[in-house]
Amino acid sequence: MSENNNPNDLHALRHSAEHILTQAMLRLYGPDAFYMAMGPATDEGFYFDFEPRGDFKISEEDFPKIEAEMAKIVKENLPIVRSEITIEQAKKLFSSNPYKIEWLDSIKNRGEVITIYKIGEEFVDLCAGPHVRYTAKVKAFKLLSIAGAYWHGDEKNKMLTRIYGTAFENKEELEKFIYTQEEAKRRDHRIIGKNQKLFTLSSLIGAGLPLLQPKGMIIRQCIEDYLWSIHKDRGYQRVWTPHITKEALYVTSGHAEKFGDNIFRVQGKEEKFFLKPMNCPHHMQIFSDNQFSYRDMPVRYFEPATVYRDEKTGELSGLTRVRAITQDDGHLFCRVSQLEDEISTIVSIIKEFFTTMGMLDGYWVRLSVRGPKGKYLGTDEVWEKAEVALKNVSEREKLPYKIGIDEAAFYGPKLDFIFKDAINREWQLSTIQCDFNLPERFDLSFINEKGEKERPVVIHRAISGSLERFMGVMIEHFAGAFPVWIAPIQVKIIPITDAQHDYAKEIFDKLKELGIRAELDDRSEKMQAKIRDAQLEKVPFMAVIGQREASAGTVAIRQRDGKDLGALSINDFIGKLQSLITEKSLHLIQ
Ligand SMILES: [Zn+2]
Ligand SMILES: [Zn+2]
Repeated sequence: MSENNNPNDLHALRHSAEHILTQAMLRLYGPDAFYMAMGPATDEGFYFDFEPRGDFKISEEDFPKIEAEMAKIVKENLPIVRSEITIEQAKKLFSSNPYKIEWLDSIKNRGEVITIYKIGEEFVDLCAGPHVRYTAKVKAFKLLSIAGAYWHGDEKNKMLTRIYGTAFENKEELEKFIYTQEEAKRRDHRIIGKNQKLFTLSSLIGAGLPLLQPKGMIIRQCIEDYLWSIHKDRGYQRVWTPHITKEALYVTSGHAEKFGDNIFRVQGKEEKFFLKPMNCPHHMQIFSDNQFSYRDMPVRYFEPATVYRDEKTGELSGLTRVRAITQDDGHLFCRVSQLEDEISTIVSIIKEFFTTMGMLDGYWVRLSVRGPKGKYLGTDEVWEKAEVALKNVSEREKLPYKIGIDEAAFYGPKLDFIFKDAINREWQLSTIQCDFNLPERFDLSFINEKGEKERPVVIHRAISGSLERFMGVMIEHFAGAFPVWIAPIQVKIIPITDAQHDYAKEIFDKLKELGIRAELDDRSEKMQAKIRDAQLEKVPFMAVIGQREASAGTVAIRQRDGKDLGALSINDFIGKLQSLITEKSLHLIQ
């Protein structure tokens, strides 16, 4: 969605486009072809649900015809006029449509005013609006797809037909949207994941539980190792927690009551357990088994740990919506006076990580604070200090932040980081959350200078968010062409004929010895076919070896971007490759 438009204007425009779609269909297919059910504007456009009557059927092949009729209505520049009517008038007007009658009853029950909109003289629909005032305002629209949808989203109800479409202020915005959609399709991590054999979904294992193939695991291990490398020098310690826990832990933490619905339950022979839905209360137990003094503070735990949440099957997708979520989780225990320094360090980790991933451009941060509406735990004094700490760090680190009043969690204020991928889609990934609640719940303390017990503040933080989701985002961000340090296969060695096999094997062994991920393509395929396959796999470098290279002790290097580097001595190539890997470069050889 574009940020340049007033969202209300865009909403009105899209709602109007949806009515124009309905009107065009009525013109083309007549009033007896279908029952209009509903059609809201959305963040991405609009949709229109209807029940086809008789043998009326529609497919995406009909879109050009419908769009042409919509264009006519736009060109006719018909007025879109609002009026209020009584329930009796409305029931009479929509008497032949069971869906509208149902809407009317619910509007009446809520005691709302009934408004209808007319487009010209021929079309009328029940709608709360708002809309644009003339059809000519709808200059840039497009129908996108058809799907089935249950009335009220309930599978017990009738299946309706849904047409998705979108509308924008102008053609440029619409084209940008279509480009993004097509790019998103091309970059779809589910398809790339399958083609590059990165991960697998098994119906025997179940939805939302992806399995990593060896190549996917290499990518994940690179990310995990990198994450740990940027934590360990900043005073973090690794911990480990089991996957199941007695329910008592979550009763004490309060989560059993709040999130009970999403927790998987495990029945043991004697006791009942939870499959852990988060790591926080577990880390609290590790802290509380120590007698820390103020000199030990802050204490920083890090654990990339898998948690399980019982998300609805319909909402699961690829790696981005899953039931087994590995958070790159960390919990810090500190004094209120240490908050600022700790937050600052986490921000520096986040910046380093996303700079490496090439995602720091255009990111922004939401600083969520208390507001008049919410109910919050903890004293005003601590809240004030934590909010000031978050704000000071945001200022000092020049974070592009927006303040979200009333958006804090009940247990503390937070910073959420929203990053843009290569096609400008936003992803909320990192988070830094202050927590005054769990230390209370678990009665955590350390001994201060006066020899008294003092309550620490907890900071929850994640950098990538979750390794699964981040991997999905990354596959789409790089469109499967990973930076060399992450690429599962970094070099594909391609001997032109069998005569070069020994030399090719020698190079392969040498790369392997240096820890470079190489693959020797010794199939009896033609060289061109081998190059094409390596390019499809998005392998960064292809080392082609013919007779000339074998006798000169060189390799002819081609890059996946099509660049031909010609013959390089093997040591020269290895040197260049290793520096790309150590620098975690986003580029190939320049
Ligand atoms: Zn409307
Ligand atoms: Zn936590």
